[in-house]
Order: sequence, then structure tokens, then C-alpha cells
Amino acid sequence: MIVSTSAVHTQQPIALQPYGLPTYKTSADAIAAYNGDDQIYALYPRKIEAAARLFVSEFPGHVLYAVKSNPHPSLLQILWNEGVSRYDVASMREIDLVRGLLPRAELYLMHPVKSRRTIAHAYTNGVRNMSFDHEDELQKILDCTNQAQDLHLHLRLALPKVSKQLGAVMPLGGKFGAGFDEAVALLKSARPDVQKLGLCFHVGSQCLNIENYNSALTYARTVIDAAGVKIDSIDVGGGFPVSYPDMPIAPMAEYFGAISASVAANGFAELELFGEPGRALCAEGGATLVRVELRKDNDLYLNDGTYGSLFDAGQFSWKFPVRLHRSRPPAPCANTIGFRFFGPTCDSADTMNGPFHLPADTCEGDWIEIQNLGAYGQTLATQFNGFYSHHTVAILED
Ligand SMILES: *Cc1c(COP(=O)(O)O)cnc(C)c1O
Repeated sequence: MIVSTSAVHTQQPIALQPYGLPTYKTSADAIAAYNGDDQIYALYPRKIEAAARLFVSEFPGHVLYAVKSNPHPSLLQILWNEGVSRYDVASMREIDLVRGLLPRAELYLMHPVKSRRTIAHAYTNGVRNMSFDHEDELQKILDCTNQAQDLHLHLRLALPKVSKQLGAVMPLGGKFGAGFDEAVALLKSARPDVQKLGLCFHVGSQCLNIENYNSALTYARTVIDAAGVKIDSIDVGGGFPVSYPDMPIAPMAEYFGAISASVAANGFAELELFGEPGRALCAEGGATLVRVELRKDNDLYLNDGTYGSLFDAGQFSWKFPVRLHRSRPPAPCANTIGFRFFGPTCDSADTMNGPFHLPADTCEGDWIEIQNLGAYGQTLATQFNGFYSHHTVAILED
């Protein structure tokens, strides 16, 4: 936890370019320049660039950015500038968003259940890669593309369950994916109709156990062997974690190394390999700046919460790194205590247990920077009770 008491503020944004956002040197500067009542969403281009560079240069396959984790146009542009040219989209609006902003991007429609209109719209807009996990969906895709001869379809596998301790912090296996026998049958029935056929899966978001990628790839091998059909690609999905309080992670290089080794060991070295990082590309590159409106004992009432960018902090008691910003004397005291947060809406679900460790004298009017919220933060925010913010800024330094 770092306390910022910087007294000198740049009152004006230093530039609008190249991020299309009011841009400040520090988050303290962005707070000093703001005289509204809403939370401020901050993007840190340098951190996004660093994450993108790591994946583009080190991931042993093609990188698809999972747009749902943060669809902010400035973030998409930064990723594109760093060489991320493929985007995993799920809806018509995500297709239009990325197409409009990055006309040369390659789009992958990796939602296993799509409306007929979405499939047709995607195909018309150049999308050739789609996923499916059911015979009827396969038929829908073939129908809505007029039996196109240039499709690359990815069969989404349901992965065998792993124990809770060994799994991802946020499992994503409950909803999509074909089981073993279905998957074998689907590979056989899809093969004659598609130009390229692949397998995809998702080990769960924030996957702390590297071995899960190997287990999934080894399982994919057994499905392919049972089907006995030619496969063109493997997509290891998302799940690459970032560090949160009490949640240390292994370096990404170890994930990439384990995936490369497993790809080779399972005889997939000749196939096209894809990964779909969401969180790992944008979590560290975003923060929410919130203001304390009232303190009751160790409870802080804030201007953002569970219905805003802090859904995970409420729903899943997720902890985020925090730091205090106070622009007036006295400087915050050195000792810290654990606080609980409440959001601004009238719903008691708007509670975030934390604990979030901040200076013991944190008080009304202080701002708190809640970090690592670039993924699944701003994008989940509702307008419930009239509390929301469209104020996004870029911050050049930490
Ligand atoms: C959400 C999602 C991702 C991104 O997952 P992260 O855990 O954020 O990396 C990738 N692929 C699919 C299909 C998803 O639904």
C-alpha cells in the first residue's frame, strides 16, 4: 500500500492524444483536476502495452484478446498498436465495435451459442472462425453462412472437473462445452463440412494451477484420437491470471512453457495454436478511483460498488490492491487497518467485505485507487440507482 500526498497538481490534462482520453501524469493529478461526484476509471497505457508485448512476443501461438474483459476503445487501440491483431468477440455489438475501430482486425466469434442473425452478420463482416458445442449450433452456422466453404470452426470442450483447490478461481465450465461422447460425434459430423476444424476450451478465469492447461490438452488428445479425424488447430482459451492480494501467481513464462511442452507432448506441434487472454492483458492496466462519502467505524461508503466496477469484490469477495490519495493536510497516518466497503446504491448486496487495508485515519473526502480493475470492472457497471460514470482517463505514470 502506497500513500500519495503529492501537493503539486497538473490541473489540465497534459494531452488528449494518443489515447483519445484526458491524459494525466499521475492518478493524483486526475483526481485534482476532477470536480464531479462520480468514480473515475483510469487506464494505464504503459501497463497495457507491457502486458500486450509479453503475450505477443512470448505466447507460443496466436493471441486473441477476449474483448468482453474490457471493450474500451482506447484499450483496444493500445492493444492493436502493440501487435494484437486478433479479437475474441461474443456478440453482434462486439463485432461492430472492433470492426469499426480496427477494420483490419481478425475477429473470432467464440461464443458457442449465437443467434442466427449474429452468425450471418459475422460472416458478412469477414468472420470465418466460430465455436460450437452442439449439433444444432453446427447446423445453424452452416445454414446461416450458406454452407460456406471457408469456415474454421472450433469445438468447445467441457473439461473434466478438477477439485476446487486445483481449479481456477472463477470456473467457466458450468455452461458451455461438449462432453466426451458428444465431442467425438461432433468432430466426425463437422469435419466434412468445414475447411478447418479445431478444439477449444476454457480452464476457468484466474487459473492459478498451470497444470490445468496440460490436463486439458491431454484430454483434448483423447477426444481427437477417439474421433479419428484430422484436426487443424487447438485453442487453450483464457484463464491467465494476474496477481491480487493473497493471490500470488507464477510468472507467465511458466504458463507459456508448460503449454508449449504439453502441445509437443500431445503431438499438436504442427497445429495452429491459439490463446484467448482477457484478464491478463488488461487487469493491471486499469483502476477505479473512488471517493469516500462517509465513514462509520471501519466501514467506508464509496461512490462506486457492486453495481459499478466492483462486482467481483462484492459477489466473490475478491480483494484488490488499494492506495489512498489525499490532497490536503494532514498526511494520512502510517498504520493501516482493514476496511469494509459499501457502494452507493440502496441495495444491501452492494457490500464488499475485503478487508481492504488503508491508513487508519481514512476519512470522508479521501480518494481510494482500487487497482487491477482493468478487467471485468468498468465493463460490468450498471446505471442502477443513478450511480455510474463515463469519466475515463489515461494515466502515464504509476
Ligand atoms: C471470458 C473468456 C475468455 C477470457 O478469459 P480470461 O480468464 O479473462 O483470460 C476467453 N475465452 C472465452 C471463450 C471467454 O468466454
